[in-house]
Amino acid sequence: MQLFYTSTRSSEDRVTSAQAILAGLAPDGGLYVPEQFPKLDVSLEELSGFDYRETAWRIMKLFLTDFTEEELRGCIRSAYDEKFDTQQIVPLHKADGAWYLELYHGATIAFKDMALSILPYLMTTAAKKCGLTKEIVILTATSGDTGKAALAGFADVPGTRIAVFYPKHGVSPIQEKQMVTQAGKNVTVIGIEGNFDDAQSNVKKMLTDPQLRSLLDAHGFQFSSANSINIGRLVPQIVYYAYAYGRLCREGAISPGEEINITVPTGNFGNILAAFYAKQIGIPVRKLICASNENKVLYDFFKTGIYDRNREFILTSSPSMDILISSNLERLIYQITGRDTKKCTELMRQLSKDGVYRIDPEMKEQLSCFYGNFASMEETAKQIRRVFEAAGYVIDTHTAVGSCVYGKYADETGDQTPAVIASTASPYKFTRSVMEALGEDGSDADDFVLADRLSALSGTRVPQAVENIRTAPVLHDTVVKKEKMQEAVLSFLGINIF
Ligand SMILES: *Cc1c(COP(=O)(O)O)cnc(C)c1O
Repeated sequence: MQLFYTSTRSSEDRVTSAQAILAGLAPDGGLYVPEQFPKLDVSLEELSGFDYRETAWRIMKLFLTDFTEEELRGCIRSAYDEKFDTQQIVPLHKADGAWYLELYHGATIAFKDMALSILPYLMTTAAKKCGLTKEIVILTATSGDTGKAALAGFADVPGTRIAVFYPKHGVSPIQEKQMVTQAGKNVTVIGIEGNFDDAQSNVKKMLTDPQLRSLLDAHGFQFSSANSINIGRLVPQIVYYAYAYGRLCREGAISPGEEINITVPTGNFGNILAAFYAKQIGIPVRKLICASNENKVLYDFFKTGIYDRNREFILTSSPSMDILISSNLERLIYQITGRDTKKCTELMRQLSKDGVYRIDPEMKEQLSCFYGNFASMEETAKQIRRVFEAAGYVIDTHTAVGSCVYGKYADETGDQTPAVIASTASPYKFTRSVMEALGEDGSDADDFVLADRLSALSGTRVPQAVENIRTAPVLHDTVVKKEKMQEAVLSFLGINIF
């Protein structure tokens, strides 16, 4: 059966998954959602026998029905290969009464790799299917993690080019080094004199500028985007929740059909939405536990039914979750309005106009499978130390937010349901905060020295991703004013307009 996608803001425009992946965002500004949820077509017993790639095929084929088996299996094979440092792709680690689902074994040691390893293949396949002959130019603004994962994913992928803009003075030394050492004939990395919002708004401007579009068109290029609102990033994230469920069955930790709880450290609401989608297709999930840091818009939302972004933006030790507008929440809002595009549009209009909206009691009732809470920076650091002392296991700051909130949930409810916690980054990516949490004073050392100390302390190996950039040559040193981003893109593409 063919599955179509429509916008969260109008149901007129029905597109295939390939079209939705190429477009990224719907023309009306809404997000693409499947017209209905498909159902898992294998039993949970069967699921537990599959390896990661087979699980990926079984799940993704339900959503990307216009891809042939050969196309989809090809994308999966190319994505989930030796780039990951373990054959399991996403190992489960039992520690301190919960199962940590390690989503950070890819090229850039954060969970963004799970989707951005496959998105380039899905996109080029979609381009072929839709008869697109132009080269795809991916524009990305990043505050750190997404940029590197997108670069690693799109580097040397035929038919694509990628330009990443990052705030020159707004990322960590390791994050910057990861990006500026990126090899690949089709990549460019540009620092801007400005902050992340400047980068983001100028990228959006370029993506929607009709004049620029026709200029690119005349030169055989077309823009696209690799941000987390693309359905091509969401679907691959459903896979690892299904895989985790299957692994738990295989380990005998649960029996097929038994429910699990899933905790996700959340920012843009993409990862936890994927867990919600996994529940919709038939993975037995009881509670979805949404963990926030001190930017706790979502905690307040689940508690009160009011989403209010009008508040101070707090810089925390879990920077990838420092966000006040969780874009992917729109897909959940759409769902709980009973797929009412008018209502959804109105709420999103209020959000962009006043920065706040309130859902009605009927909608709120449908959020009963969600639980929200948050962890302060102090609690986060304590949790890193506690888990290490209790289980000899080191988690990063983002995962620690999840772990701490899961603890609060379990204490409050006494719920003993087997618990999976999404572990979204390697501790080696946020080494300084992790080492400080473990009681080490790192003020005398750079992040690479700290990585060696973490290795000695924890008995784990420094990941290849960190070793690779330790001595790697800097390949990108362009810095432009924020007003000059478009010129930088045209120069990268060899388009001379003068
Ligand atoms: C992006 C990110 C998150 C937040 O994920 P969302 O899908 O945006 O909610 C959490 N942890 C890490 C390490 C990340 O990079």
